Amino acid sequence: EEADDPRPALYHALRFAARFYFEQLTQSEAGQVARAYLKQRGIHPEAVRRFGLGYAPNAWDALLKAATEAGIRPEVLEQAGLVLPRKERGGYYDRFRHRLMFPIFSHTGRVVGFGGRLLEPDPEQPKYINTPETPVYHKGRILYGLYQARQALRTQEEAILVEGYTDVIALHQAGIEHVVATSGTALTPDQARLLARYVRRVVLLFDADAAGQQAALRSIELFLERGLNVYVVSLPPGEDPDSFVRAKGARAFQEYLRQRRRDFVTFHYELARRQGRLDTPEGEAEVARTIVSAIARLPDPLLREPYVRRAAELLRIQQVRLLEILEAQLTPSSR
Ligand code: ATP
Ligand code: MN
Ligand code: MN
Ligand code: MN
Repeated sequence: EEADDPRPALYHALRFAARFYFEQLTQSEAGQVARAYLKQRGIHPEAVRRFGLGYAPNAWDALLKAATEAGIRPEVLEQAGLVLPRKERGGYYDRFRHRLMFPIFSHTGRVVGFGGRLLEPDPEQPKYINTPETPVYHKGRILYGLYQARQALRTQEEAILVEGYTDVIALHQAGIEHVVATSGTALTPDQARLLARYVRRVVLLFDADAAGQQAALRSIELFLERGLNVYVVSLPPGEDPDSFVRAKGARAFQEYLRQRRRDFVTFHYELARRQGRLDTPEGEAEVARTIVSAIARLPDPLLREPYVRRAAELLRIQQVRLLEILEAQLTPSSR
């Protein structure tokens, strides 16, 4: 029933919180520590405005108090994931305290949640905390930065997919605006579907660590199944897009993206070679099978063809051999 829909009240509370955190960051005395942090990370005031960044003060009830004074009920704040109930003596406390705040927008531009980052390293606490699942925030259906990127996605006709909030922001600052982030979770089918509404091509630009590599392998399959063309850019060890663009500068970074872009078949092949999986005949066969099974996910039969040709050239296996394996792997409906 319409009247029981909790969502309008939650959107209102989240909008209020975003304004509150933004004001704390940009105008309050307490926000100085967060402003210094941004400066040291090279995040400019324009990006603060564009992404609505904020600061959650170092107190148990800063947001709770301000929102209550503005007539927002604590139960609504709790449902929005902004405050938590106290265990013993009743009442509530702020979920986000002394953190840099990244509001998460829906693709229509409504604040649906937040990510909050520690300002100083603290082994006792997670580096980032996020809004839990709520009636308006489903993390598997959100891509961070999509709202800010949507214009550029249309004009560039591709999306760059990164892992982190700060990667999206750093790339924007470098003039690359067609960027969205998974925010550290494995890509979901819903996220792949969402992105497929905007573009036909995705460039994966994940952190150069084991987790980032795993994430790339899984994401490739999901995008291929949706019929998207997938490319991968690998970064030097230890780098993520944010650190690398700051080290190299915008222009050299863009050049790097152009030169290091690999289609998914070439990416699989080069990864296998680096890992020594092509050193034996049985290794080669296994890699061939893996690559063909990725190609088999493409729904468009015409698109499988050039990828098979590429795989055959790289692996120096006859194309007909690969086509035989491909045929065997295709489901009856996809032939
Ligand atoms: P920074 O540069 O500020 O350290 P990052 O984006 O490079 O941040 P990563 O450790 O690479 O951080 O993680 C990528 C993304 O994963 C983060 O932007 C965040 O969305 C998410 N994330 C990281 N750590 C956590 C955590 N402990 N809990 C929840 N989400 C996390
Ligand atoms: Mn990482
Ligand atoms: Mn990172
Ligand atoms: Mn980083």
